Amino acid sequence: MLQARKLESPLPKMSLRNVEKSQTLLLNEQSRMLEGSGREIFKFGFGQSPFPPPEKAVSALKSAAHRKEYTPVQGIPELRKAIAAFHSEAEGLDVTSDRVLIAPGSKIIIYAAMAALERADVLVPAPSWVSYVPQARLLGHSPILVSTSFKSRWRVTPEALERAVASKKDSAVPTILILNYPGNPDGLTYTSDELEELTGVFRRHRILVIADEIYGLLNHQGTHQPLALFYPEATITTGGLSKWCGAGGWRLGMGILPESLCGDYKDAVLGIASETFSCAPTPIQIAACEAYQWNRETQDFLTHQRRLLALLGGWVATRLKLAGVDVHMPHGGFYLFPEFTSFGEKLEQHGVKSASDFCAKLLADAGVALLPGDAFGMPTAHLCARLAYVDFDGSKALSLSKERGLEAVLDDAFVREAFPRTEKGVRKMCEWLASL
Ligand code: PLP
Repeated sequence: MLQARKLESPLPKMSLRNVEKSQTLLLNEQSRMLEGSGREIFKFGFGQSPFPPPEKAVSALKSAAHRKEYTPVQGIPELRKAIAAFHSEAEGLDVTSDRVLIAPGSKIIIYAAMAALERADVLVPAPSWVSYVPQARLLGHSPILVSTSFKSRWRVTPEALERAVASKKDSAVPTILILNYPGNPDGLTYTSDELEELTGVFRRHRILVIADEIYGLLNHQGTHQPLALFYPEATITTGGLSKWCGAGGWRLGMGILPESLCGDYKDAVLGIASETFSCAPTPIQIAACEAYQWNRETQDFLTHQRRLLALLGGWVATRLKLAGVDVHMPHGGFYLFPEFTSFGEKLEQHGVKSASDFCAKLLADAGVALLPGDAFGMPTAHLCARLAYVDFDGSKALSLSKERGLEAVLDDAFVREAFPRTEKGVRKMCEWLASL
């Protein structure tokens, strides 16, 4: 009889890279486990759009299901053209389709854009999205954190940027900055004055900027200003369908290269793409051609999403402020980055010494899941966390918004009707804070 044999790993010890599983995914699993045991959990930890992709894109995807061929690495020409036209019309960018790259998600475009350089110092604002630093490390680049503060609205200032550049060990190594606005985790954007001032520093130090504008179309007022309008010579813009189109799982990302990088650099990025992911899925690219149309339908879709997000984000921020939490009113996307330092002493009496302790206790006591600030590059002891206000039924909220019409003023009663879980979760969180 065959004996069950424990298989041993053939890998020598110490041969693995130290890459932690993304903290966002871990938290999602933890919340699911608690839910599985019957607890009511308010999922404000995971940043997934609650809105459905537009129907016309869904039907295009259905009809393209049989398309099984590989596409050119850079993406199908129709989609690159559609994206160039879309961003020109929607945001005033001057883009030609040869500068557009398509990939399975913008995450891998950010990675490939960094991987095209042999060596680089990668300036990453703190707080910022969880994957930039691990990606830079995987590539053997040196991440340098650019610190920001609640007082400066979590904005990168020219002074902080100068300090980060001055800390480079070797000035001959190229410098990349990743700038994401509207921001994950902060939900804030930059004014044109701020972007102009920063551009002065970029030019002085010849910084290549990866402008992660994946939430650009979800600027709550519809007034997103792409960095490429300010710094066209060295901005790589990234985006895709994951956020504004509610289609994260479709894995459709795009990058727009500046004219100046359309020679050897573009070849290097396409080389990396061809040796790794080959191309974005063909049916998804065909469906994306439908999504990337700057027509009435798309504009209405965005207008309602922005209206709902502005309402809910503002409502949550106001509740938190009333409960004594330090938080800024959001400008775009679906995140807030509250600070709980004013509760520091009380929390310490409960054994809470770090952002992770804070999130663990909040989840255990009130069933509210937030993601701790250290996941975004903040010091562990800094009591801050990300709140994603996405625990609601996006299809229902969109229908309610359409039913009311754009002239209607949406009040607290609408918040309770359209976002009942978010409303309840925020209420639980405020009650918990008051009970400390
Ligand atoms: N950049 C930011 C700031 C994000 O929040 C995300 C997804 O959460 C991404 C990039 C990755 O998006 P994609 O789904 O296009 O890979």
